[in-house]
Amino acid sequence: MKTTSYDIIVVGGGPVGSYTAWLLAREGFHVGIFEKNPEIGKNINCTGIISTECFRQYDLPENTVIRPIVSVKAVAPSGDSLKYQAASPFAYVVRRDMFDRAIHKRAEQAGAVTHLGSGVKEIAVTRDAFSIKTGKAGKEETFSSEVGIIATGFEMHALPGIPERPGEFFFGAQTEVGMEDMEDVEVYFGEKIAPGSFSWIVPTNDRKAKIGLLTRNNPASFLRKFMKSRHISGRVTPGESPIKCSPVPTTTIPKSYADRLVVVGEAAGQVKATTGGGIYFGLLCSEIAADTILNAFRQGNFTEKVLRAYDKAWRSRLAPELKAGLRLKNIYSMLSDRQIDFLIDLARKDGIMPVIERAGFDWHKDIITHIIRHLMPKNFFRK
Ligand SMILES: Cc1cc2nc3c(=O)[nH]c(=O)nc-3n(C[C@H](O)[C@H](O)[C@H](O)COP(=O)(O)OP(=O)(O)OC[C@H]3O[C@@H](n4cnc5c(N)ncnc54)[C@H](O)[C@@H]3O)c2cc1C
Repeated sequence: MKTTSYDIIVVGGGPVGSYTAWLLAREGFHVGIFEKNPEIGKNINCTGIISTECFRQYDLPENTVIRPIVSVKAVAPSGDSLKYQAASPFAYVVRRDMFDRAIHKRAEQAGAVTHLGSGVKEIAVTRDAFSIKTGKAGKEETFSSEVGIIATGFEMHALPGIPERPGEFFFGAQTEVGMEDMEDVEVYFGEKIAPGSFSWIVPTNDRKAKIGLLTRNNPASFLRKFMKSRHISGRVTPGESPIKCSPVPTTTIPKSYADRLVVVGEAAGQVKATTGGGIYFGLLCSEIAADTILNAFRQGNFTEKVLRAYDKAWRSRLAPELKAGLRLKNIYSMLSDRQIDFLIDLARKDGIMPVIERAGFDWHKDIITHIIRHLMPKNFFRK
């Protein structure tokens, strides 16, 4: 069996894998990207909402934007709503297939080599190399490198050889529908709509919208019920696209590094605990991973002693957010519809909008602290 060598192997050609590959290829490293799908940007289940802050920070491809988002309407189980209207766009909806391809193209232009239809079946780490096996039985190929980056997203079946994977997850179900009268992104709360989480309708273009929800069980059945619910029935025309369901991690992995490897993006659970959005945190951690790997090459040392710095740095950046998000999620999952109605009503009167404006689209700790400290009166759980 022939073995091909790279400096760095990236497993997974999603946005986080390709972005990390780009950062390292442009430093002159020989990078190999391995993607199991026959094309980049295939079989994606994502709404494609990315903040304007993230776009600016990572110089993301603007030609993939379908539309800007300037307002969000939150709808309580009672049907009462609360609208957040910004002065200018705070996020964009992108075409995720084009977005993934545009980032991947940057990596290739910087010299990264892509192996499509190359699902990695096994990884192995020895004292001298990180190596992977791809291909069908009898036609297997092996590739090796100094260091490996696991950016496989959250797969239901773990890749043999990776040290850890997120232990808890929701399912995200989504489809595309025809939708009249849509200006805002709409989010809906309620035990019968999406227990423990929320559902969304996001206008895309040509009177179409992405409609989806996050829930622990039966996501497709909840989504079908939501489309027929009194809140939106009559406005929705079922589309031709099927309902897709995918897991979204709600916890991070305990350890995102080992000798000669790091785990980045959704595979490490680097997603917003409040919304399940993973692109921003994934790119942020991708930069930290690339810096740590550059340092490992400088030192000629790929042991976990050096790669540990990656884990420490991303956790110290994201831990307050992830902790606050988890706290809110735990409280929220105990609320009845009556309590959610009460909270949304209170938020309308309390003046939460300036807090939302200050916090920005990606950082939710301050909003969560505000909700817990100021909106939930001490006797809230007795209501
Ligand atoms: C319904 C839904 C809506 C969402 N909406 C948003 C949103 O609006 N905004 C947002 O920021 N996030 C959203 N997310 C989350 C977002 O899609 C992910 O966080 C993001 O795709 C993570 O990027 P990634 O590169 O880490 O992983 P992925 O995008 O999952 O990419 C991983 C890649 O690795 C490949 N792969 C997997 N295993 C192997 C293997 N063994 N060998 C080779 N290749 C492999 C996969 O084919 C894939 O191409 C949503 C998720 C869901 C389910």
